[in-house]
Formats: sequence, structure tokens, C-alpha cells
Amino acid sequence: MTDSERQTKRSFSDVRIFPQIAFLDARYTHTQSRAVTVNTAVDALSHAIEGYLSKRSTAVSDCLALEAIRSFGRACNALVLGEFDISVREELLYTSLLGGVVIAQTGTTAVHALGYSLTYFYQVPHGRANGLLLGEYLRFNEPVVPQKVEAVLAALGLKTVDEMKVLMSRLLPSREVYSQEELHKFVAIASEAANIVNTPRQPGKEDLYNLLLQSLTCKA
Ligand code: FE
Repeated sequence: MTDSERQTKRSFSDVRIFPQIAFLDARYTHTQSRAVTVNTAVDALSHAIEGYLSKRSTAVSDCLALEAIRSFGRACNALVLGEFDISVREELLYTSLLGGVVIAQTGTTAVHALGYSLTYFYQVPHGRANGLLLGEYLRFNEPVVPQKVEAVLAALGLKTVDEMKVLMSRLLPSREVYSQEELHKFVAIASEAANIVNTPRQPGKEDLYNLLLQSLTCKA
């Protein structure tokens, strides 16, 4: 939901709106453009990664999160090439399903909290906003959860956070440009977000600012 008063997006959850059955039929995603497909897939990946690192993660959610990340990894080449046959779309639906199940348990974290500003103020597609921040998010949390960051990278067939950043830049070309004032505004809003407390390494305002600075292009 768009919350115009707080100038951000919010989500809501309740057991009464929890689905009992999910129908996943990739045929209904067939007409989605490359951009929508990639952005949505990256959002699903972000759900899995944030959920896996989340302070609220559990042994069970971790299994699902890692499977979601591996699933994304299997579809990754097709995503980069923009070639989506039905089997790739089925794989991505599976990634998305698992990512959703994970965040229903763990909540999202600082990536979603920061990404909301890019979407609220500049209509950056939600998944893209998350994907721009994911690499630096892993780097920021690595000192606190090194094994988990290593497991995320391994599940994607990567070795380093820099490789993750290269992958994201291939999927999401070009970087958004913002002023320092805008970055400070994004930080002020994100630091009030409820989901920020799920971040394994608790970020202060300066950390959030640096995360944006390393992920986006800042004009002088
Ligand atoms: Fe999301």
C-alpha cells in the first residue's frame, strides 16, 4: 500500500488474508515483458535473501530460502539473456512462491525498507529497487553472518559479493542518479520502517546512507 502521509510503501498481514491454496500456472505469465519478468524475479530473490539473513529466520525458513535462491540461480542465465520459455517461467514461479512463504515467516529487512523510497518518489519498479541494493546489503551484513552470506553466494554459483554486483548490473542495467539530499531523505524514511529491525547487522543512519551511496550514483 502507498502511505502518502509517511511517503513510503507499507504492507499488512493477518492470518485472515493468508492464502489456503496457491495456483501457479506459468502460462499466465507468458505475456509479461522482459523488464517485468526480471524485476519480479529479482524481488523474489530479494525475499529469499532477506528472509534467509533476517533475525526472524528459522531452520525451516532457511531451507526454503536457500531452495528459492538455488531456483533463481537455475533461471539466472535465461534472465540475463531475456529468453523465457515455459520451463524458465515455471522455475521463476517456484522461486516466487518460496520467497513469499519465507517472508511470511521472517519479514523483509533493510533492502525493502530503502527500496520503498525509490519506488515512492521515482517509480522505480519494486524488484529493481531491491536488486540495486542487494549486493551492498550482503557486503554490509557479511561481518555478522559470514556463513549465511557465503551460502547465498554459493547457491547462486558465485564466490564474492562483487560477482553478485556484476550479476545484478547485468540484470538491471544503468544506475539511478540522486542527490545527497535525496539520499538523506530516503534514509530518514527507511530508518522509521518497521522491517529494518529484522536486519542481522543493525544499520544506523550512516550505514544506510553508505549502502545507498555504494549502490546508486550520487550527483554532487
Ligand atoms: Fe518485495
